[in-house]
Amino acid sequence: MTPWQMEEGAERHRRLLEKAAAEPASGGRQASFSRPLVRGEVDVSHGRILYLEDVHVSFDGFKAINGLSLDIAPGELRCIIGPNGAGKTTMMDIITGKTRPDRGTVFFGSTIDLLAHREAEIATLGIGRKFQKPTVFENLSVYENLELALAADRRVGAALRFRPDGAQRDRLSEVLVTIHLADQVHRQAGLLSHGQKQWLEIGMLLVQDPRLLLLDEPVAGMTDEETERTAELFRGLAGRHSLMVVEHDMGFVRALGGKVTVLCDGAVLAEGSLDEVQADERVIEVYLGR
Ligand code: ADP
Ligand code: MG
Repeated sequence: MTPWQMEEGAERHRRLLEKAAAEPASGGRQASFSRPLVRGEVDVSHGRILYLEDVHVSFDGFKAINGLSLDIAPGELRCIIGPNGAGKTTMMDIITGKTRPDRGTVFFGSTIDLLAHREAEIATLGIGRKFQKPTVFENLSVYENLELALAADRRVGAALRFRPDGAQRDRLSEVLVTIHLADQVHRQAGLLSHGQKQWLEIGMLLVQDPRLLLLDEPVAGMTDEETERTAELFRGLAGRHSLMVVEHDMGFVRALGGKVTVLCDGAVLAEGSLDEVQADERVIEVYLGR
């Protein structure tokens, strides 16, 4: 018997919201589940899911992003590497609307100008972001965390009446298998290993079926085995989703097998296969040779 058959859907959801609100999630995530869904089709007819051109951001005169141009193809798995302070996290802040650039162009597909949207709107357009630290609701089960994530893009008011339909429950089961947690469904999230919490948080993004996933240092702190399984997981996600993965672990970057962009001083220093960028003298000098 599934949890949904054991309890009336609306009641169950109300209880989950209360339980989630009673205790802040690790990493400070707030229990907020009434974001409007504005997602439409993303126009990728020009072969790009994400497009940045000549983006600049200064913090108190310091040029954190300095003429950054970059694009990502639909279904692509792109790795971003580069020294600390290169602007990798700031780039994700710009794409997700957390930081507003001083100038430049940032498009999702060829028609959605991300600079014309606020952070809360961008989250509903089909761009999912995973921060460095896992931010799951520790006092909820694996299943409950995914349920809440599924309800998160319902219209205002509907969250309390929300009950996953058959297709959504199928999606939830599918995601549980993808994130290697199908045998941990009823486990309290707080009791999972660090790696499993990271997978659960990725699952919470996946239930909403984002077109683009931004993942900032997803394997930091994982065991070697968890890191390998994460590479396998991300390779499986490419195609259906586009992924932008910031990571320092070169073994992991190699296992992902995608195109690599090297960021330095807020701009692209080199781009190509991992072998190509590793052979680039400028990259060796600023990053790999240390
Ligand atoms: P990375 O993720 O590549 O290590 P970041 O994007 O975090 O680099 O930071 C790039 C630079 O911008 C760093 O020097 C950092 O100190 C600075 N920076 C980032 N965010 C802010 C901010 N909100 N205010 C001031 N400086 C910032
Ligand atoms: Mg960073």
